[in-house]
Amino acid sequence: MVTEGGNIRTVNFVIPQIDLPAQYTQIKGEIDEAIMRVVRTGKYVLGPEVEAFENEFARFCESSYAVGVNSGTSALYLSLVAAGIGPGDEVITVPFTFEATAGAIKATGATIRFVDIDERSLTMDSDAIERQITDRTKAVIPVHLFGQPADMNPIVDLARRHGLRVIEDACQAHGATYEGRPVGSLSDVACFSFYPSKNLATVGEGGAVVTDNAVLADTIRKLRSWGPIERSGNYRMSAMEAAVLRVKLPHLRTWTARRQAIATRYSDLLADTNIQLPAVMPYAGHVFHIYAVRLTHRDSLARALRAGGVDVAVHYQLPIHLQDKYKDLGYPPGAFPVAEQAAREELSLPLYPELEDESIEAVANAVREGLPVARAL
Ligand SMILES: *Cc1c(COP(=O)(O)O)cnc(C)c1O
Repeated sequence: MVTEGGNIRTVNFVIPQIDLPAQYTQIKGEIDEAIMRVVRTGKYVLGPEVEAFENEFARFCESSYAVGVNSGTSALYLSLVAAGIGPGDEVITVPFTFEATAGAIKATGATIRFVDIDERSLTMDSDAIERQITDRTKAVIPVHLFGQPADMNPIVDLARRHGLRVIEDACQAHGATYEGRPVGSLSDVACFSFYPSKNLATVGEGGAVVTDNAVLADTIRKLRSWGPIERSGNYRMSAMEAAVLRVKLPHLRTWTARRQAIATRYSDLLADTNIQLPAVMPYAGHVFHIYAVRLTHRDSLARALRAGGVDVAVHYQLPIHLQDKYKDLGYPPGAFPVAEQAAREELSLPLYPELEDESIEAVANAVREGLPVARAL
């Protein structure tokens, strides 16, 4: 994610990493109408817009319940709290993800246990989980990184055998599928973010918890709005965010198909280079939140591309176990070699549904040559 202080960076690149105004322009009439509808009704928090969105999003995920909250971070945190997780417990996740995955665990007071990622999919290495399970382990959080589901069958099987809860971090993977089933229907509970840079995005902050478990959904509803249970608070979704999401949800399949077409085009154009292209696993319907290539001279190519007006990004510079805030977990450099190498090599090319064919070709050419794109574009 290209963020600084919580905002999408506004430097005017010739080819940006993401172009939110372009999407708004396409559906301006619908968005303006939805926002004014909320303003007129005076029901600004939760209420009928949020309920309607929850029903529509649950159906989209082929799941029974969705509970709207104020961010993906809150969705993760509340899912852990609703599972009764707190100090003294352990939760297993990956170090190669956006910080919120680990930060939500830390916020509950539970201890984070990392496992490395798989070399090809860059998602949780299911073979590495069992060694990390102790009698304090309560949950596993696989991350559907860059829009590709983690390999859920072995993870869910292992969790069942050990009595662990599985919480999907689906913040980058709205509409992604695993063996034909959508994320959000693959485990006990899935967490989504609707932050502006995500595949399904609102005009501010938003998130949702999706589950088939009625008791869990009810507990999350109580936790999000000062309900009669410990650790409840204000994690409510605003009606404006829900109204915007209701406009965008019916467009999501079209936008996703365009993301996939762009990814395929990039992969065709870069096929004969020595750059490692993103692997689509046989089980995955990948929704390409991020088009992540890998190469050893990542930093010099990134500099050249940016200088030439292609706004590439890096996801993620430093795996979480090597970040200062997580030093107390005691993981040394080398603890998770696959994650550490991915962090050194990953480069995200611009990818958003409105990206035009000529821009895709210009980016691919610039990558191929390691040279700037002509200013004229
Ligand atoms: C964006 C994101 C989150 C957090 O979502 P917010 O809405 O920004 O709080 C969590 N996990 C992953 C993998 C994400 O990409």
